[in-house]
Amino acid sequence: MTTDELIERAASVLNPHTTSEGRLFGDVGAALISERGNVYTGVCIDTASWGLCAERSAIAAMATAGEYRIKQVVAVWRDESNGSLSVLPPCGVCREFMRRIDEGNLDADVLLGRDKAVKLRDLIPHHEWPAPLA
Ligand SMILES: [Zn+2]
Repeated sequence: MTTDELIERAASVLNPHTTSEGRLFGDVGAALISERGNVYTGVCIDTASWGLCAERSAIAAMATAGEYRIKQVVAVWRDESNGSLSVLPPCGVCREFMRRIDEGNLDADVLLGRDKAVKLRDLIPHHEWPAPLA
């Protein structure tokens, strides 16, 4: 699967929805390729009681299927005012969540654009457990 195809899969689940309380969700979509080559998608969910980002929704789908290792992940947001699509970097919670689901995910490729990807480990500097103070 190409980077563009993964971005397209993430965009395909975009489905902005406003709750009766006025909360918007589904406006960010994520897609990931697992180590086994399966694609999982998710959208951001925001409610007054709890919420999570699109990346964590996709990871929840992956874990539900019994997989934990991410090969590549991307999240996108479409500006409804002009139709433009943007790739979003994962927030700090998602970065740490990806790592905690499986330490091997530190080597996952996180897409930051069509032609830009970084390893998760490079988005979590100084993540190693520290040595005791002398
Ligand atoms: Zn997040």
